[in-house]
Amino acid sequence: MRPASLQERHEFYTREFRTNLIREWFRGWMKPIVFAVVIGRHTKIFPARYRGDRDRTVLIDEYDTLQDLRRYCVEFKPESVYYDRNVYKNWDEARRGPGKIEQLGKSFGQQLAFDIDPENFECPIHGTLEEKMNRRQGLSFCRLELQLAQEQALGLVDELSHSFGELRMVYSGRGFHVHVLDEDAFFWTPKRRLKLARSLSHRGYLMDEWVAGGAMRLIRLPHSLNGLVSRVARPLGRVKVRSFDAVTDPFCLPGFSRS
Ligand SMILES: [Zn+2]
Repeated sequence: MRPASLQERHEFYTREFRTNLIREWFRGWMKPIVFAVVIGRHTKIFPARYRGDRDRTVLIDEYDTLQDLRRYCVEFKPESVYYDRNVYKNWDEARRGPGKIEQLGKSFGQQLAFDIDPENFECPIHGTLEEKMNRRQGLSFCRLELQLAQEQALGLVDELSHSFGELRMVYSGRGFHVHVLDEDAFFWTPKRRLKLARSLSHRGYLMDEWVAGGAMRLIRLPHSLNGLVSRVARPLGRVKVRSFDAVTDPFCLPGFSRS
């Protein structure tokens, strides 16, 4: 797993990025959808003309169709593409110029999601997250940690299925995301979200409370390229996930990694 080059990002967003799958993902979503890209913050790979924007989170909120989103991605060749889980009351309120996420209008709801990252797992070879951080390997992970994250994400889906009706699991290229699509969960208060996240943590689930609690509202866009590792973020069905191998599965390999 290695970062994607600019040429590869270009190739992916020109030829492989499927806007019909994006539309499918957001079926039933209350408009507007705000997207965001990070051009080269982690990879330091970026088009020369966007040097000044390399580390920024650039919001994409002025577009008419998903083909415009594709055009932005072809232009920026980002390492990562996200969407905002917040649902905004008022489009005009939300449109306060690109790039200033703090200035977005008031949201009145947020998609509930959980983020399970492999580096949080204690590994018999690489140790705990703290030990990895001390060796400056905090963001790297091994195959075993990835498997532990996958098993836990599956367990979380089972656990949450007692309380929620519509759940989707996504392999993000790094870890796993579990999205709750039930409409009433969109209107949970931050306090209630945090309470659920904490109770899951107490039962041994290692998750990012910033994501579940709502403070981190951006989440990787399914079907986009994770340019840090050259994998496509994909929703995984229940059957698929049992046999899924995050490292080798062609389901998540972009064309440029298959040859
Ligand atoms: Zn390890």
